[in-house]
Amino acid sequence: MMMQSFASKVRPDHLDRLALVYVRQSTMIQVRENIASTARQYDLTGRARDLGWPLERIQVIDQDQGHSGASAAGRDGFQHLVAQVGLGRTGAVLSLEASRLARSCSDWYRLIEICALTNTLVIDEDGVYDPTQYSDRLLLGFLGTMSEAELHLLRSRLLGGKLKKASQGQLRFRPPTGLVYDLEGRIVFDPDEHVQQAIRLILDLFEQSVSALAVVQHFADHHLQCPTRLWGRGRNGQVIWRPLSHSRVLAILHNPEYAGAYVYGRTKTRLQCLPGEEPRVKGRTRQVRPEDWPFLIPGHHPGYITWEQFQRNQRRLDDNRTSPDEDCRGAPREGLALLQGIVRCGRCGRRMSVRYLKNGSIPSYECNSVHTHYAGKTCQSMRGDEIDAAVAQALLEAMRPAQLEVSMAAFDQVAAQARQLDRQWQLTLERARYEAELARRRFVAVEPENRLVARTLEREWNERLAEIERMERDATLRPQLASRLVDPAEQRRVLALAQDLSKVWHAQTTPQTARKQLLGYLIKDVTLCRGDTTIQVAIRWQTEACTALEVARPKRSYEVRRTDPAVVAKIKILAMEHTDRQIASLLDQEGFRSGTGNRFTRNIIAQLRYCYSIISGCPEAPAACAEGYRADGRCSAKTAAEMLNVNVSTIADWCQSGTLDGIQSAPYAPWWIKLTPEIIAGLRKPIRRTWSRQSVSSEK
Ligand SMILES: [Zn+2]
Repeated sequence: MMMQSFASKVRPDHLDRLALVYVRQSTMIQVRENIASTARQYDLTGRARDLGWPLERIQVIDQDQGHSGASAAGRDGFQHLVAQVGLGRTGAVLSLEASRLARSCSDWYRLIEICALTNTLVIDEDGVYDPTQYSDRLLLGFLGTMSEAELHLLRSRLLGGKLKKASQGQLRFRPPTGLVYDLEGRIVFDPDEHVQQAIRLILDLFEQSVSALAVVQHFADHHLQCPTRLWGRGRNGQVIWRPLSHSRVLAILHNPEYAGAYVYGRTKTRLQCLPGEEPRVKGRTRQVRPEDWPFLIPGHHPGYITWEQFQRNQRRLDDNRTSPDEDCRGAPREGLALLQGIVRCGRCGRRMSVRYLKNGSIPSYECNSVHTHYAGKTCQSMRGDEIDAAVAQALLEAMRPAQLEVSMAAFDQVAAQARQLDRQWQLTLERARYEAELARRRFVAVEPENRLVARTLEREWNERLAEIERMERDATLRPQLASRLVDPAEQRRVLALAQDLSKVWHAQTTPQTARKQLLGYLIKDVTLCRGDTTIQVAIRWQTEACTALEVARPKRSYEVRRTDPAVVAKIKILAMEHTDRQIASLLDQEGFRSGTGNRFTRNIIAQLRYCYSIISGCPEAPAACAEGYRADGRCSAKTAAEMLNVNVSTIADWCQSGTLDGIQSAPYAPWWIKLTPEIIAGLRKPIRRTWSRQSVSSEK
């Protein structure tokens, strides 16, 4: 009866066209193992025959084996089926259930609509549906919705189970190199000591150098390599050794599993297409911020570092970024500016940048972000050398109580590092020897008659031996452990030096990066504000305590060259009674120097008088005097000597004895003599004729 009603829907015009049997399994595992279901799907050809289709008009579409029905994308068979239906060549579509055809409602409704347009039947195990009839369409629509809902329920049930396991830390992932699952399913340290040591060394080096790149540099300098465990494609946890890269160090430092924590949801992948659309790219994977990690269980397994250390490392890595807009200070660099990355503007609060003057010999701090971003004015800039010195002084003062501990810790660190490095070398050598032994055994085990294999194995063994030889040679070239560890006598000597931390700080051999690193440990930031004569320096320590300093503002270049105001005042007084030449020699005798550090000359004094508007002679009689005369009518010793026809020394004698009316501004200063016509007539010596060139020229 049932069959009858089904058959009544199948009309001759359906039978004249094709019957398409659609066969699909979601995954290849189902294809391999779920044979019964596949057989049932193929049996639908029998059903089509029962309904009256001749065998030559029944087509099986089974291209989509191993493809999910979640979307039509990538399912060539389904697309072929839809095309056939659309062309009106199909009388019926047969499938075990609606979910085989499509699990996406949009795909399903599109198919039903095309079937209705082209008068095509949809047949499953339970019945025959005619999409042109309202009740059948309703039923088919319902079946499609159920099919999509089923997929959703399946997915959410699976995901729910996964999340539940993750919340308890039981969802297993492949642990990073250096950690493995033991037989009981717990995460433990890698039993391979060499791998373990390498991971420890990376984490320890970062602790000391605070820079991921410095770790890479250390590995490269000492020819060390980094292990990676490979999984999948038949490589069942095989370890390979490669040079350490920057990205690898970052991956290790950012991985919380090394700190013994279990984390689920460190990344999130977002699909870049609508559901049902064929994905153009794989989807974008983004890092989730640690505070948004859905499941985090600290202390889940043994870790190489503590959780606190991990968090500190994250902060340091954040700080090491050099983005100028963000609140990060950047890793310490070689440049001279001590406050690189930690200096802030006291006027606007922005980070100040560093610039170098005079071929990098003088650091300068500038607040120029307004200038850079908005073409505004530079907020303020100042020379950095004095500020650096003041901050360093404050730092050394603060360090004084802890000096001894710091120096002791430094020794321990040096020793530990040397030992770690040696251990790493030792383990590398050990591994090479083991591999050589393995190659030897493989060679011995092969039958001598099997020459082709034996030759390859022999070559392999030889290569291993050569590798060991090379490594042993390298090892002998390295300095001995003892020479790298500081012996007790030297330790005492260095300790004595360490007592004077300022000496170590100022030593030429201390790298600037080390100074900056030490500064970064203690000081959070330094705020600078330029005043008229001083610069306000506010140091904020890591403890949030603050120290305020005041540094004299460096002189401007003209200020550096300017003559001392005291000297100018002296010139003002001397100019009342002396010529420029005399002022120059007087100042010279007293040890005064010009603004550029030179001895005074007549020209310099004349220039100064011009600049400061100092008029020679009495202020009441500023008129110019004749050469050799003063405003009050007194003449110089030289002029008097010429007039009286005697030597200058005779004039001095006469002044001292009172024969002449002479005055002096200071004990050794020149004489100024008052001459009257009577005195000249009384004291003048007669002119003695000599035939010197000078007297001849003077007569002319
Ligand atoms: Zn500013």
